[in-house]
Amino acid sequence: MAKPIVAVVGRPNVGKSTLFNRLVGERIAIVEDTPGVTRDRIIADAEWLNHHFTLIDTGGIEPHAKDDILLQMRIQAEIAIDMADLIILMVDGREGITGTDLEVANMIRKHDKDVLLAVNKVDSKTLENNIFEFYNLGLGEPLAISAEQGLGLGDFLDEVIDHIKRHYNDEEEEDDRLRVAVIGKPNVGKSTLINKVLGEDRLIVSNIPGTTRDAVDTNVRYDGEDYVLIDTAGLRRKKKIYEDIERYSIVRAIAAVERSQVVLILIDGSEGITEQDAKIAGIAHNRAKPSIIVVNKWDAVEKDNKTMKKMEDDIRDMLSFMTYAPIIFISAQTGQRLGKIFQTIEYVKAQSAKRITTGKLNEAMAEFVLMKQPPSKHGRRLRLYYSSQVAINPPTFVVFVNDATLVHFSYQRYLENKIRETFDFFGTPIHFFIRERT
Ligand code: GDP
Ligand code: GDP
Repeated sequence: MAKPIVAVVGRPNVGKSTLFNRLVGERIAIVEDTPGVTRDRIIADAEWLNHHFTLIDTGGIEPHAKDDILLQMRIQAEIAIDMADLIILMVDGREGITGTDLEVANMIRKHDKDVLLAVNKVDSKTLENNIFEFYNLGLGEPLAISAEQGLGLGDFLDEVIDHIKRHYNDEEEEDDRLRVAVIGKPNVGKSTLINKVLGEDRLIVSNIPGTTRDAVDTNVRYDGEDYVLIDTAGLRRKKKIYEDIERYSIVRAIAAVERSQVVLILIDGSEGITEQDAKIAGIAHNRAKPSIIVVNKWDAVEKDNKTMKKMEDDIRDMLSFMTYAPIIFISAQTGQRLGKIFQTIEYVKAQSAKRITTGKLNEAMAEFVLMKQPPSKHGRRLRLYYSSQVAINPPTFVVFVNDATLVHFSYQRYLENKIRETFDFFGTPIHFFIRERT
């Protein structure tokens, strides 16, 4: 299920990171950071009463603009307006309204965005009277919280979930179109690809009214199937300014991948695969999304009969963690092999949704064990009792064993590869859980 995105906007020192640290669960997605920068929690999973959402601290995305607070705020607000389903504007209840708060509130109000106003640092009952002046921001009822003391957070989160439910879940739940994220570093050709697909498509489905995603989601029908392409290029009109902010690209890619079911990882074929590509591919891998490596600009590459093989080898080398992802070669500009993209999407989707019966799986596992003896330690040998596929998307297997400490990484890898080969699970990550039978 796609998770809604909640973005926190607010001046430096109002308490955004304090709130963030209180709300996030353990699975924190730390955006790679330069050493010495303390604020590295920018995007994370949060949960309240079984509702999951992705929380973004927009203040952490562009720390360099800190000396120019108004500019920093403008960037934060634009990013939030661009990406979020719900914006939380955070202000400081001890300081009262500042000119910057007014300015940001005005910016947000111009857009048709769902917004909540959090007045932080209301550490005691006596301070609650301070919140009334914040009605002047024109963003509705100010909600008093103390991120540090943990006060008012329950009511506040109830509001967050209320908003998310009202404006988000219903729409997405009814939606059975496949959501495909298009990620890749700046200039690999994401926008060109999406525009080309749109241009080729004579049956463009218009944007769904009422969704907050109109600006970023592209609806296309290809070969009778409907897809939503989630564009990570973002802030299209201001592309040049924002693509320099690497963290923004990454946060955006994470948000798109979170909402997607299949990921296209674009690579610039004219340049070859780079470390930055690997970092971006890692986002899809870490979230266990079926992925396709799309080598773009193939038209611009001088080729002989070894070029494609060489490129494939380079990619497998650099992206050794995702051997399962098919590689395809296209040109977004000429439209060469666009059809292949959609065929491959259908393929990986089917792979990731496949179920193997317990009988067949255990038969096969018994055979794998015969072909390669499980490891042993101190005279004790690993035994596999029973396996079962417990989930799809991604395919998830539980293996019951006599002693989990005997399961070496390499043996698990062996089993995983065997399962892949035998049952034809390509294009999708596979999850394994090893359990000791009691
Ligand atoms: P950010 O720059 O918006 O992320 O703000 P921080 O989370 O770094 O907080 C800035 C300062 O405000 C820190 O010294 C926090 O300890 C303090 N602070 C955060 N929340 C509260 C609160 O609820 N009450 C009080 N009194 N101080 C707070
Ligand atoms: P984005 O930043 O990933 O959205 O990349 P763009 O779609 O803006 O493309 C960046 C540049 O690469 C533009 O100048 C495009 O014309 C060029 N480009 C995109 N796709 C192709 C392609 O398939 N072949 C060639 N030769 N150039 C391309």
